Amino acid sequence: MGIDLLVFGPHPDDIEIGLGGTVARHVALGCRVGLCDLTLGEMASNGTPEQRLAEAEAARAVLGADWRENLRLPDGALGPEPEQIRAVVALVRRSQPRVIAAPYDRDRHPDHEGASRLLTRATFAAGLRRYAPGVEPWRPDWMCYYFINDADEPSFVVDVSRYYDVKRRALACHASQFAAAAGERERVTTRLTSSRFRQLVESRDALFGAAAGVAFAEGVIVREPIVRPDLFKQRDGDGAAGPGEWDALSATGDEWPPW
Ligand SMILES: [Zn+2]
Repeated sequence: MGIDLLVFGPHPDDIEIGLGGTVARHVALGCRVGLCDLTLGEMASNGTPEQRLAEAEAARAVLGADWRENLRLPDGALGPEPEQIRAVVALVRRSQPRVIAAPYDRDRHPDHEGASRLLTRATFAAGLRRYAPGVEPWRPDWMCYYFINDADEPSFVVDVSRYYDVKRRALACHASQFAAAAGERERVTTRLTSSRFRQLVESRDALFGAAAGVAFAEGVIVREPIVRPDLFKQRDGDGAAGPGEWDALSATGDEWPPW
């Protein structure tokens, strides 16, 4: 049986930065959620690969995702290379997600842009019968692109107000990246260790939230028109679904996604 949502991140902290609240929200809805970090972040100024793996697993447990994998692709060289595409396709076909979330393709970090191009190409290839034949092809319903460093006009936002403390706790698991460098000789001060970085993430989520009339929201971009069944902003049960209500929504025949 496939999973509902598969979220990819270039480095072990990117999923939490961009979609931590959304992951927690889907877990609360009863969805099966898988996470995949493309690299160990071995080019980062701080943290060892072993630390990064341990931090990512701790964050997974906080978010409640079913599993988290690391494809160990080369940090600093992410892109639509044939062997990288093959690795992503194998995971997509094996996990059969309904939705794939990937970084948006405009970001100041070249690896985030490279990851976006790689994941777009690989998701397309995963659905091709003649690409790496012998394994059942798989195509998700759609891809949602999320923001890491920079933001753009979102296609829609997900209300994550109730899950914002979960996001904060998941981010705090990545201590090698975000903890202040003071007092540790081998640590270096970077953009991430500044309290301004947390401010950047939280102010973006607060801005999307304020625009939508809620406390915090995470935005995504989709590359196709969003089809809705009517002009109503909300239907009964929408927006207030709690844990366990997911199945009830699906059982009524409502289209995915039920916002
Ligand atoms: Zn990153």
